[in-house]
Amino acid sequence: MAKRDYYDILGVPRNAGADDIKKAYRKLAMKHHPDRNQGDKAKASEEKFKEANEAYEILTDPQKRAAYDQFGHAGVDPNMGGRGAGPEGFGGFAEAFGDIFGDIFNGGAGAAGARRGGGQQVYRGNDLSYAMEITLDEAARGKDTQIRIPSWETCESCHGSGAKPGTSPKACGTCNGGGTVHMRQGFFSIQQTCPHCRGAGKIIPDPCTTCNGAGKIKKQKTLEVKIPAGINEGMRIRSAGNGEPGTNGGPNGDLYIEIRVKAHDIFERDGDDLHCSVPVGLTTVTLGGTIEVPTLGGNAEIELPEGTQHGKTFRLRGKGIKGIRSSYPGDLYAHIAVETPVKITEHQRKLLKELDESFRKGGDRHSPNEKSWTDRVKDLFK
Ligand SMILES: [Zn+2]
Ligand SMILES: [Zn+2]
Repeated sequence: MAKRDYYDILGVPRNAGADDIKKAYRKLAMKHHPDRNQGDKAKASEEKFKEANEAYEILTDPQKRAAYDQFGHAGVDPNMGGRGAGPEGFGGFAEAFGDIFGDIFNGGAGAAGARRGGGQQVYRGNDLSYAMEITLDEAARGKDTQIRIPSWETCESCHGSGAKPGTSPKACGTCNGGGTVHMRQGFFSIQQTCPHCRGAGKIIPDPCTTCNGAGKIKKQKTLEVKIPAGINEGMRIRSAGNGEPGTNGGPNGDLYIEIRVKAHDIFERDGDDLHCSVPVGLTTVTLGGTIEVPTLGGNAEIELPEGTQHGKTFRLRGKGIKGIRSSYPGDLYAHIAVETPVKITEHQRKLLKELDESFRKGGDRHSPNEKSWTDRVKDLFK
């Protein structure tokens, strides 16, 4: 199958800026994230997720993007070099999200092994991600909640050794327990991770049947999560050490909770500000009066002056959302949407016609905008 064009995959034009690419990628990543697509959709979305990851990785690297623009897929090989994202390409995924606590995500977890005294290769566990959907109210006020996450417990049958009870792991014969082997390549002797034990230094001739030799068993645990007030779409919360366990005593990965805020029926959020459209009847905007406007903390009132026009915006100071890093809350903007009367009765029709006549007698002063607009249209055809 021919590889799809990276710009097509993300649905962005070829001159798209970094922000647009990030936005498009975030949307796709959310949509096709493995956590959200299980069952028979899993396979197809996994492919899409990987495809989007790859496109994102290339198009956000100026050098790789330039190479791709010039030579197409031949110019970039995502399997070469790069930052070694994890099995889900989580490196790219995580970087696309603003990190609220300023943690620097260290790319492909487990990609960089460290050595310990025993000579065994030590790996940090993979990071995990958890997509959490919350309401706008919860985002504004914060929320204490619980989530179920995978956890790994030491296997009780083998006490973590991975060997069948009564047997024990043996030192690997290939590397003599060191975990590494020396390979000759031409004049050079190169140290490599032992291919037989994969760096563990030991092999298990008779694996434990409970854990299949892994020494640990995947379970579920409940995690208390504090969603801070003011959190916004796309932000993430890091829960240190709650990712997958490390290998050979390496540290656990971290868990990242990615926040998605559901669309609200009334409010639209823009940073710390909220916007809403308030439908108001024709007579109220004409005569003026008090209207009620919803806020996240109950209703507020606005005094409409006589002759309020459609689209007029009223600002309710401090009725927005106090962002995580903000020292005071944003504002609420109420946009007046004049509603034209419908299903009018004969009587109302008559009254409106009388009203219209009366307005006409008043000349231009009742609709100053209409007058100036008509004049401008006339000027067009002079
Ligand atoms: Zn070995
Ligand atoms: Zn076991």
